[in-house]
Amino acid sequence: MDEIRSFGYICPRCGKAVMAARSAFALSAAAARIECECGKSELDVETDGVKFRLNVPCALCGGTHTAECSAEAVLHGRGIGLACPETKQICCYAGEPEQVRRALEELAVRSEKEKAAGEEAFTDNVIMYEILSELRDIAARDGISCTCGSRDYAMQVRRSAVDLTCKRCGGKLRLGAATDEDLDALCCQMTLTIKGVS
Ligand SMILES: [Zn+2]
Ligand SMILES: [Zn+2]
Ligand SMILES: [Zn+2]
Repeated sequence: MDEIRSFGYICPRCGKAVMAARSAFALSAAAARIECECGKSELDVETDGVKFRLNVPCALCGGTHTAECSAEAVLHGRGIGLACPETKQICCYAGEPEQVRRALEELAVRSEKEKAAGEEAFTDNVIMYEILSELRDIAARDGISCTCGSRDYAMQVRRSAVDLTCKRCGGKLRLGAATDEDLDALCCQMTLTIKGVS
């Protein structure tokens, strides 16, 4: 009886789970190409009969990874997961259709969650925007300085705060950028002083 093997990945372009099945016989005889419905990504499977080479579009890092696996692992057994070298997480599955389908569903949920987390870069986007434009105003009137006398500073935007760091002494001033109170506290300041490190 001819075994059916599945391949699955998440399309980096449209985010959909892509899954396709081939018979083990067809796979060992010829290369396979599995395309996403959107037509913008494809998984290539090549074989020399001993090894399989998979070119996997990776939804986790956006790149394409090449992996070599034994024909035994691809054609028989429960299946294998290929890990993205960037994120160390599995981005592609090959094996038993049922295993691949289940693993792929989990992967789709996870990558959806990560995407959502990435979009929410700040605790409160509106507050962060206001804080940054307020900071720009203060900087424009040369209002940011350090107690060490330097007016040279670096600014780092974090999720719920903005850090000002003195470039001369390394002194730091953290400004909250998550709540209305944070915004009120900044709005009434004409100047900002970084506490220098001596
Ligand atoms: Zn797609
Ligand atoms: Zn990757
Ligand atoms: Zn300083």
